[in-house]
Amino acid sequence: MIPNGTTMRNGASDGGENFSLRDILLEGRKLSFSERTAFFSEWINDRAACGESLYLRNVLSAADREVTIYDRYAQAPRRMLMFGSNNYLGLTAHPYVRERVRRAVDEFGTGVGGPPLLNGYSRLHAELEERLAAFKGKEAALILSSGYGTNVGLLSCLTSRNDTVVHDAYCHASFHDGLKMGTAAGVKFAHNDVDDLERLLEANAGRGGDTFVGVEGVYSMDGDTAPLDRIAPLCKRHGALLLVDDAHGTGVLGPGARGTAEHYGVDHLVDLAMGTFSKAFGVSGGFVAADRAVIDYLRFFCRSYFFSASMPPMVAAAVLGCLEVLEAEPEIQQRLLDNVAYCAAGLRRLGFDCNPESPILTLILPETVNLRKGAYHFHRRGIFLNSIEYPAVPAHLQRFRISMMATHTREDIDRLLEVVEEVWDRYVVPHGLDVRVHRDA
Ligand code: PMP
Repeated sequence: MIPNGTTMRNGASDGGENFSLRDILLEGRKLSFSERTAFFSEWINDRAACGESLYLRNVLSAADREVTIYDRYAQAPRRMLMFGSNNYLGLTAHPYVRERVRRAVDEFGTGVGGPPLLNGYSRLHAELEERLAAFKGKEAALILSSGYGTNVGLLSCLTSRNDTVVHDAYCHASFHDGLKMGTAAGVKFAHNDVDDLERLLEANAGRGGDTFVGVEGVYSMDGDTAPLDRIAPLCKRHGALLLVDDAHGTGVLGPGARGTAEHYGVDHLVDLAMGTFSKAFGVSGGFVAADRAVIDYLRFFCRSYFFSASMPPMVAAAVLGCLEVLEAEPEIQQRLLDNVAYCAAGLRRLGFDCNPESPILTLILPETVNLRKGAYHFHRRGIFLNSIEYPAVPAHLQRFRISMMATHTREDIDRLLEVVEEVWDRYVVPHGLDVRVHRDA
């Protein structure tokens, strides 16, 4: 039996969505492959047996506001309200998008069987690249079959040996992995600390080579935005190239739903506008929009583009469908923002200090409270949300992560709030650990 928390103190992430379970769990152990797999198998099965594992919940329906899952503890299917999907606009089930995908399957079949430069570049891929370039206000765009692969490809091919990449400490794992594969020096600045970024840019001046600055529009684990209104002009002043990973902001923020840079009015100052299709567009894939020369370069130097099969045309059709829906029904974005505001107001009434900048709302739980018990309470009460624990975030920042959708109803949100209150009353208040700041009577 492996003791709870074994060796898990070392190597935690310092925040954001970046950690290596391998480094943390296996650090210092000289284990053969079979010992390693046996060790991990025991560790994970222990947790499942205690009713502590809600990973791999088997979803039996579309990722909408309400889903059916197969509950392995109750051994039966059950309906749950979905507050754990990044399908923020609720477009996976939109009739227009479904119909567009159906038509694409009729026309193109299910996939292409090859990379874009050879046989995998359909009319829909070309059309989507053009639409995305216009959406992001850039000359050109290129699409890849995953958001993860987009960052890995970009970071490993854009820079050369003399370059420096100054990036936010909370950047996504894919950003860090791409950096490791490239040859440029990577330097972290403290999360959203513009003064720290400025200090590093000044220290880097005259070092030779290009300087890239990497940030996220919306940070996936905290839901806060990068202050691009300050960061973008700072980059220009220092001649640094700005790369914004707006996986969570694209389709969500800004008056035209074009993302966080539009929200801050600085789209024109972003050199590389990266995004994914796995959030507001509800499918999967990634893209980058930039000057045409940059995109032409990437097509031949970005290995995750060059050496990987294109996304199926039906996926490109789904994203095109979402862009068309966004244009035709801008009220969907507004509904999402209204839902976020409604939920935040409810959480504030319960005493949480909640002023969200995006559809990601986080409820931090004190370190000594058993997060998994709370998570299982949500599960039993039919609320599907994600619990994020150490080592994904530092232990004192363990949390429940709520993802809002445009399709949630007020009743759904009221139900969520009811169960949040139950969890706090049952698991937090009795320990005298209620960190809510201002409970209303
Ligand atoms: N960047 C950020 C900020 C993300 O949150 C994610 C997904 N969690 C990715 C990149 C990777 O995107 P995908 O899941 O679409 O591969």
